[in-house]
Amino acid sequence: MIVEDTTAAAWVWPRCAVATTLTTAELDDLDGLTERVGTTPSDHIACELAAGHEQMHAAFVLADDGGDRWWWIRWNRHGRELCHLDTCDHADRPSGDDCLLPATHPGRHSFQM
Ligand SMILES: [Zn+2]
Ligand SMILES: [Zn+2]
Repeated sequence: MIVEDTTAAAWVWPRCAVATTLTTAELDDLDGLTERVGTTPSDHIACELAAGHEQMHAAFVLADDGGDRWWWIRWNRHGRELCHLDTCDHADRPSGDDCLLPATHPGRHSFQM
């Protein structure tokens, strides 16, 4: 666990918020998961990364395995993938909030937005 001190951050960074919709094949894959937590998003889901980020967009879809495994949709204009990713191991010092983005995500942590 890496703890960051954001006390000095006087501003809030916006999120990317580019949206996508899951394909029928992706919805079928999600239907096959066991011990799902949450419901499959049927409408647009928005990228949760920091505005101006590099790499692919990423949005949380749902968890399975009783909540231990988090599934994300990652996409850009070249392609897309539905995958489970470990969560970022950074936390905020003043608030104690964990970053809720995938490990190795580009840009700001979720507690900085
Ligand atoms: Zn994005
Ligand atoms: Zn992070």
